[in-house]
Amino acid sequence: MTKSLLKTQAFIDGTWQQSKTKKTFPVFNPANEQEVAQVSDCSAEDAKKAVEVAQAAFESWRQLNPKERAAYLKKWHTLIIEHVDALAEILTLEQGKPLAEAKGEILGGAAAVEWFAEEARRAYGDFIPAHKNDARILVTKEPVGVVGAITPWNFPSAMITRKVSPALAAGCTIILKPAEDTPLSALALAALAEQAGFPKGVFNVVPTSEAADIGNVLTSDLRVSKISFTGSTQVGRLLMKQCADQIKKVSLELGGNAPFIVTPSADLEQAVDGLMACKFRNAGQTCISANRIYVHESLFDTFAKAFMDKVKALKPGPGDTDGVDIGPLINKAGIEKVEKLVANALENGATALCGAEKASDLGDLFYKPTILTGVKDEMTLCCEEIFGPVAPLYMYTDTQEVIARANNTEYGLASYVFCNDNKEIWEFSDALDYGMVAVNEPFLATELAPFGGVKQSGIGREGSKYGLEEFMEIKYRLLGGL
Ligand code: ADP
Repeated sequence: MTKSLLKTQAFIDGTWQQSKTKKTFPVFNPANEQEVAQVSDCSAEDAKKAVEVAQAAFESWRQLNPKERAAYLKKWHTLIIEHVDALAEILTLEQGKPLAEAKGEILGGAAAVEWFAEEARRAYGDFIPAHKNDARILVTKEPVGVVGAITPWNFPSAMITRKVSPALAAGCTIILKPAEDTPLSALALAALAEQAGFPKGVFNVVPTSEAADIGNVLTSDLRVSKISFTGSTQVGRLLMKQCADQIKKVSLELGGNAPFIVTPSADLEQAVDGLMACKFRNAGQTCISANRIYVHESLFDTFAKAFMDKVKALKPGPGDTDGVDIGPLINKAGIEKVEKLVANALENGATALCGAEKASDLGDLFYKPTILTGVKDEMTLCCEEIFGPVAPLYMYTDTQEVIARANNTEYGLASYVFCNDNKEIWEFSDALDYGMVAVNEPFLATELAPFGGVKQSGIGREGSKYGLEEFMEIKYRLLGGL
C-alpha cells in the first residue's frame, strides 16, 4: 500500500522527473537514523522549468469555472482520505511523530482541501454605490498568478494542503519546495493529485537539499507572483528581502513563543490536560507549542505536581510502535538546540522536575519529556522557540504583570489562557498581542479559522475565507457614462 505513494522524483508538468543534475539526497527515519529513500535533488534549472510550466498552466486553470476547480480539489480530498493510513505511515517514517498523530495531521490537512474546494465558489466580490449616478463600481477577486510555496518539516503534510488548496481554489498554479527532511509526504500528496487528474503544471513539487537555490529562483523570477512560506523567522526575513525588488507578495507563517497562562480560576485538570496536548504534540516541535507556561502562585505547586504525574506517564519511542506518545526529534541540530537551552537554564538556577536528558536507550534523537521550574524571564529558553518536549513553568502573581511578561517577545503567533472568570477572559484575550488567543482549549488549528501571527511571527493568514484571499488580487472596475 505505502509503496505506490512512495515517490522519490520531482513532480513537474504532471510527470515524475529526475533532477537535471541527476543528483539525489538521502531522507532518514529520525527514529533509527537509517536512510529510507534517495530523492531527486532539484537544482535552480529544475525550479525554472517548474516556473515555466506553472505559468503555462495558469492561463487555462484560472479560466476554469470555480466549480470545475472545486471538483478536482474534492477528488484530491477523497483520495487523501482513502489513503490516510499509507500517508500516515510515510509521514511517520520521515518525520518521526506517532502514527496516530500522523493520521490526525493527514485528516486535518484533508479538511483544508475540502474547505477550500467549497470556498472556491465563494470568492465573492462587491458592488459599491458609486460617486456618480451614471457610474457603477464593481470589485472582483482574481488569482494572483503563479505561487511559490516553501514548507517546513514539522507538519510535512498539513502545511502543504493549507497552501496548495487555497492557491488552486483561487485559480493560481503552484510550485512547492518541501523541507529537505520530509519531502516524501509532499511527493505522496502529489501522487494523489496526479490520480485526481489535475491538469499538467498546475501543481509541481521540487524537492531539494539546496533550499536557497530554489528559493532564489522562486523569489527572483518575475513569473512567480507570490511566495507563501512557513518556517523560521530568519528565513522568512530573508525571503521577504529577496521579494522586495519585485514587490512580490508574501505570506509568512514564522516562529512563535507561545505563552500558556493558568489563572487562579482555571479548572486545574482541564489546564493540565490542555498543557499536555499543547506542549507534547509532535514532541513540542510546533510553532504554536506552549513555550512559556505562566502559572499563578496560588496553584503553582498543585499544578506542577499534577502536570508531573502525567508527564512521567508519557511514553517516548519510535512513532510506528503501539502506545508511543512522543517520537524522536527531527535531527541532530534539533536535539542539540534543546540540550543547549536546558543546560543554560540549569546552569542559571532552574530545577528539573523530570527529564532534562536524552532518552539514549531509544536512540540518538530522543529527548525525555522535561519539566523545569525556577526558570526566569532572562533565560535563553524564555526568548527562543524550544521546539522540543521541554515545559518551563514560570510563577506569576498579578494579571497585569503576566500580560506584560507574555507580551514581552518579538513573536506574536499563538497564546493560551486557562481561566473561568468571564471578566478576566476578556481582559486576557483583549490584551494579549497575538494573532491567536485560545481560551480553555489547546487546539487552535482548524481550516475554518484564520491561522497566523503578528509582529515577527509573520504576515497573512492560512485557513478560513481570509486564507483564500491571500491568493487573490482585488480588481476595481469603474463603469462610467452609463
Ligand atoms: P527550520 O529551522 O524549522 O528547519 P527553516 O526556516 O530553516 O526552518 O526551514 C523551513 C523551510 O525553509 C524548509 O523548506 C527549508 O528548506 C527552507 N529554507 C531554508 N533556508 C532557505 C533559503 N535560504 N531559501 C529558501 N528556503 C529556505
